[in-house]
Amino acid sequence: MVRKAIIFIILTGNVFLSFSQEYLNPQLPVEERVDDLYSRMTLKEKVGQMTQYVGLKYMQGLTSADQLDDIENQGKKEFYPGLGVNDVKARIKNGEIGSFLLVKGVDEANFLQSIALQSRLKIPLLIAEDAIHGHARYEGATVFPTPIGMASTFDTLLVKKIATITAIEMRQTGCHWTFSPNVDVGRDARWGRIGETFGEDPFLVGEMGRAMVKGYQNNELETSVLACGKHFVAGSQPLRGLNFSPMDASERALNEIWLPPFESIVNEGCATIMAAHHDLNGIPCHANEYLLKTRLRDELGFNGFIVSDWMDVKRLHSLHRIASSQEEANRLAVNAGIDMNMHGPGFFETVVSQVEKGEIPEKRIEQAVKSILAYKFKLGLFENVLVDPSKVNLRSDTAKAIALEAAQKSMVLLENKRNLLPLKSLKQTRIFLTGPNANNQTILGDWSASQEDDQIITILEAFKNEQITLDYYASGDHSNISDKDIEETKLRASESDITVLVLGDNPTRSTEVVRTSGENSDSANLNLFGRQEELIQAAYDAGKPVVVIIISGKPRAIKKAKELASAVIYAWEPGEFGGQALADIIFGRYNPSGKLPITFPLSSGQLPAFYNYRPAAYFREYNDEPTEFLYEFGSGMHYTTVTYNNLVVDDEITNEQPVSVKFNVSNSGNMPVEETILVYVSDDYASVTTPVKSLAAFYKVKLLPNETRPIEIKIPYKTFSLWNQKMERVVEKGSFTIMVDEMKAATQLK
Ligand code: BGC
Repeated sequence: MVRKAIIFIILTGNVFLSFSQEYLNPQLPVEERVDDLYSRMTLKEKVGQMTQYVGLKYMQGLTSADQLDDIENQGKKEFYPGLGVNDVKARIKNGEIGSFLLVKGVDEANFLQSIALQSRLKIPLLIAEDAIHGHARYEGATVFPTPIGMASTFDTLLVKKIATITAIEMRQTGCHWTFSPNVDVGRDARWGRIGETFGEDPFLVGEMGRAMVKGYQNNELETSVLACGKHFVAGSQPLRGLNFSPMDASERALNEIWLPPFESIVNEGCATIMAAHHDLNGIPCHANEYLLKTRLRDELGFNGFIVSDWMDVKRLHSLHRIASSQEEANRLAVNAGIDMNMHGPGFFETVVSQVEKGEIPEKRIEQAVKSILAYKFKLGLFENVLVDPSKVNLRSDTAKAIALEAAQKSMVLLENKRNLLPLKSLKQTRIFLTGPNANNQTILGDWSASQEDDQIITILEAFKNEQITLDYYASGDHSNISDKDIEETKLRASESDITVLVLGDNPTRSTEVVRTSGENSDSANLNLFGRQEELIQAAYDAGKPVVVIIISGKPRAIKKAKELASAVIYAWEPGEFGGQALADIIFGRYNPSGKLPITFPLSSGQLPAFYNYRPAAYFREYNDEPTEFLYEFGSGMHYTTVTYNNLVVDDEITNEQPVSVKFNVSNSGNMPVEETILVYVSDDYASVTTPVKSLAAFYKVKLLPNETRPIEIKIPYKTFSLWNQKMERVVEKGSFTIMVDEMKAATQLK
């Protein structure tokens, strides 16, 4: 009886609340709801919204398979020193936490939300995840190729679909915010995070980023997640190639290279931005008001909220040493423009008193909190925050089909001597398959959980489905290739018709073996890790043709493969259908179509290596090795020949109108092909030095055997602009060269 009465009081209390408090009324405009809620909040509740924690299971070292009850039983773990699970729960109840990351599973998401619903104002939590190529850190979700592979497809519609599916799968599992897209311009292949980027070209990176933002924030309340553009800014060409290492960048480089992708995603309405780990020109990005306010908000017009990267506010004190205490670090970060702290205690505690003391203006808090709340309203979280575990339906047929399509389209055929590929899937063909990536989950790439084996098609499994006679040998992993592995490779290669070597990197986080790429796994040397080149040599010495497949998120200096292998396929990190997609290409069911979104240097000594260099870059040559790249941006072959002719462009640029570029493209082979057309522009003479060429447009076209298609592409006026000596963005008079394949034509501004 007493219990019933209490429930009645709670219920009636709620009803009263929903009538009396405007912010709970979904009929009102978001702005009004935000203002109403904000006006009711204490300072502590406000700063609470700016505070993020890792999930309770993560804190306790548990997996999603572990029961919620285990959280309580595991009380000894000290992830946050001095802070137990019950303390975190109490903080949620007090309204002192606004967001979580690394929440493991629907049950935990619902559990956390139900605590938040017991807080005074019942503000739901924003749950975040690094879902950068599908909701891949969630066990059982669809795993797509990593962004470098997505960029290789040059297919923005496909990438948008990937983001939409990611959002659907995230929302079903109680997540609302993805730390993606990564729009860092990948300019140093030593950096382990290249696989997270869309490559080296600022325009391509911006277009891919835009496509992802569109897919994530798709306007459907139930299936949208917030996007997070990262990392602001210029951290992807770190000194020494090491993650976190400082970076110096001129204003010109900011304007020409690092900011344009952010401009694209901000224009697309990207809700959040993450600051970068490093210091830029001597000022850590997390305390850099010029970057976070002047450049991002005032100039690019960003109006969402800015989240810190993992523990980086604290690191203003502990690493960068521009603050003598964490308290000072908090003040510097918030005053510079950080709106939410990832993650943990030590932020909330001091920020509240700093506001009270006037060290942080209340205006800053208002800006941050109102923006965070607005997105919580827009996502519909105040109406519907608990998710129904019985409705979780991951890896739908559509999702799987898109994952396969993306994997197929992402792979790049770099060599195919004497047209060795495609192979015939025939019993008489004896194939020897080996290499450290032939039969494991390295194909999933970084930022993926390890998935159930029956969800993944490894390369060995895909080959087993072919009609061929297959000989497989499990060589050691990347750091562990033995003399015996090398001898066995030579022996078995000599007994087969063709050897397929699956080499590359290991980016997986959840393995016991050495991780050779991925976040915080950078390399000084770009050669294949360990003794993998010896496998190429051994197979080649056997005297039979060798096919080299590389599974890796970054360019490797694969000189030996280029020289000795008959065929080379750069498969990047193709995701869960990687094995099947490769078999489809190798056995001729899919005509390879990927093109490189990043230049491959011959060695790390050539770094930075990118195609859009300025004219004097290679006036002189190295004296000890060739100056030419191994493979340039845009490289990639098909099984058929695509030819271009009849380039015609507008002679003149008039009235700031787009320039029309017309030509024909033909498939002269007997397989259908998907060609990525790349259109480049160069400014013939300008008042400042400009790149020898810059990507101005890309366009995908499907061509049937022997089909010719007329194409027209319009190049926007702005594409012809440069940053002049006064650092103004202008289009200068004079001529421009437009390049498509081998063809060139001129247009001019009079
Ligand atoms: C990475 C971010 C990521 C965050 C949360 C950091 O180490 O730099 O890109 O979103 O961790 O996992």
